[in-house]
Amino acid sequence: MPQDFAPAAGSCACGAVRLTLQRPPLYVHACHCTRCQRETGGPFAHHAVVAWCDMTVQGEAPVFAAVPADSGTRHWVAHCPRCRTVLWNEWGSRRAVTRYVRVGVLDEPGRFPPLAHIFVRSKQPWVSLDGAAGFEGHYPADHWPAGSRDRWRQARKARQAERERPKAQRPLTVR
Ligand SMILES: [Zn+2]
Ligand SMILES: [Zn+2]
Repeated sequence: MPQDFAPAAGSCACGAVRLTLQRPPLYVHACHCTRCQRETGGPFAHHAVVAWCDMTVQGEAPVFAAVPADSGTRHWVAHCPRCRTVLWNEWGSRRAVTRYVRVGVLDEPGRFPPLAHIFVRSKQPWVSLDGAAGFEGHYPADHWPAGSRDRWRQARKARQAERERPKAQRPLTVR
């Protein structure tokens, strides 16, 4: 990812909820698991994994739906309260360290091609990976570049500090 990152804006289909990636995603992947296929209605989900503190949300507050996940738990899916476009999801907690932003909601999705394809064991047979890295299931935890793993650790620390603050003092732009 380039150091001189130009913020990447995006929005739902009606424009009521807007978001901006202020820093590069930690990683970008395409997930071909059957859950992602069902949730998106497409052959895979194209996700930018973004640290919670690296993106801001403008306009209306997104609403969250709890959606069952394969692990037997659920994840939280953020969508626009008006047009219901899904913007991102987060695992386990509404205050997760990372958000899986749907790359298609960004104004310039072409800036964020997938760096890896995961759960290719359930990939649609007509999808070609075009030479990109493919993993049968999830990639190993150390697959991300070292810089991204460092940034993730910093984001986790910041999230922990933020969770400990009283609700009223939490920043409103980052939900
Ligand atoms: Zn909308
Ligand atoms: Zn998936």
